[in-house]
Amino acid sequence: MDIVYEQRLGHRAPPSAGAQKVQFVIVSSKYCNLRCRYCYEFPDLADRRAMSHEQLERMYRSIADHYYRKDHPVELEFDWHGGEPLLLGADFYWRTFDAQTRIFADPQVRVTNFVQTNLTVLNERLVDLLWEGFDGLGVSIDLFSGLRVNTGGKDLQPTVLKNMDRLRQARIPHGAITVLSRQNLPHLEKIFRFFEGAEISPRILAVHRGASETQNDADLLTEDEVLQALKDLFELWMESPAPIAVEPLYSYTERVIWSLATQETSYYDKSQWEYIYLVDTDGNLYSYSDVFDTAWSHGNLFEEPLHGLVNGPRHRRVIEAAEARIKSACSGCRHYGRACSGYPMAEESTGRRDPRPSGAGTACTRERGILDYIEKRLFELGVVGPNGRIDTTSKHYPRFDPATRIPV
Ligand code: SF4
Repeated sequence: MDIVYEQRLGHRAPPSAGAQKVQFVIVSSKYCNLRCRYCYEFPDLADRRAMSHEQLERMYRSIADHYYRKDHPVELEFDWHGGEPLLLGADFYWRTFDAQTRIFADPQVRVTNFVQTNLTVLNERLVDLLWEGFDGLGVSIDLFSGLRVNTGGKDLQPTVLKNMDRLRQARIPHGAITVLSRQNLPHLEKIFRFFEGAEISPRILAVHRGASETQNDADLLTEDEVLQALKDLFELWMESPAPIAVEPLYSYTERVIWSLATQETSYYDKSQWEYIYLVDTDGNLYSYSDVFDTAWSHGNLFEEPLHGLVNGPRHRRVIEAAEARIKSACSGCRHYGRACSGYPMAEESTGRRDPRPSGAGTACTRERGILDYIEKRLFELGVVGPNGRIDTTSKHYPRFDPATRIPV
């Protein structure tokens, strides 16, 4: 599974005015036909158990009850993950979309559905579902890694590419997630050229730690290597005429520009609003930072109301831990509140945190480094003038104009 949970997804429409956005990543089943070598659900991929429709309806009612209490509109996005979520078949999703239509009747909450798929299995009914049922999809494809294999050890990338062609013929727009590892890092430019040529907006993610401490030792990249890869991608993206958004670079750059243009500040306050929750197949609710660590679950969403979980002691403990991470790492960072809200430190995998040389706290090599770099390059490229103002007439500014992006 490759999770797409980030505060902003560059290829998606922003919330309507006054609305707050929240994503629920739904692990509908762990079952998968692939055995990607880095998958952190690896031990569970043969488990065919899935969420039942009764559980899902209970969850929808609980979510609706919580967000109907808000005094502002809410954009509620369900992101369907697995395992491989499409193995549940088209009827599973049509039935649950019907339930959503019945349960989320109040226009205060607007519901959308996205799916993250390995796209190895596609038939006419699924094509119809992707076209008419979902609001968008992301395809997991690494290119050149050889790590996304089936149970027999065979790389199914040719099948995925064939199915991506089929999506293109059916005019179904899609994004992609590519996991960057030791295997495909040397091919970074070729990976970029693939997405540039196909005009697909990719999200490039560095491989995480696996289900065990050692599973991904051979494939993990150092934080310095990830930072260099992001810098290289930024340069490729800047020079490319393709109307694509490369994430997470787009979101980083957008925030740097906002900070320079407005001189305003904003800070991530997890106690006020949480942007992403993950619901595991068994109903356990998590923040992204603690995903699948039952000791840090907020509780079970199939058994307890969301309103109680959000305001409960387990969630309070998760919030306090995130606030402590922000305090230790971000308070001395020049980007804090400006080009960065502290969100990465609060919500992104705690397992990859690189210690400062002094041993106290986290260095945040990746985010600090890329924000420094983007800011410097925006000045050099003339996107920011010598007076510190954004030059919307500069050659590279359109790269960051949402109107130039391919909508998905
Ligand atoms: S760049 Fe890192 S250290 Fe700085 S504010 Fe963001 S998360 Fe915190």
